[in-house]
Amino acid sequence: MSVCSKCIKEKPIFAKGLCCACYHRARREKLEQEASEEKEREDFSVSIDFRPMLYLLEEIEKRAAAELRDVGAQILWELNKSIGSQNSES
Ligand SMILES: [Zn+2]
Repeated sequence: MSVCSKCIKEKPIFAKGLCCACYHRARREKLEQEASEEKEREDFSVSIDFRPMLYLLEEIEKRAAAELRDVGAQILWELNKSIGSQNSES
């Protein structure tokens, strides 16, 4: 028997210093939080069909590789350069 680090009761430790009940509660809360973060990500994401302008995707991929960003971050960076910073400067 040892003490659960969450409920501070003497119980058999199931995993990560937690008793079985606390471990499963923590795991469920983590999953729920991940689900809501995932939902939020979907709310603020678009998927882009580059087929009409494939050269843009190739250029973005080239720049992303050169600057060690992922393609999504590179697209944001390019948009910020062309739209974002101009707005904040004016
Ligand atoms: Zn516990």
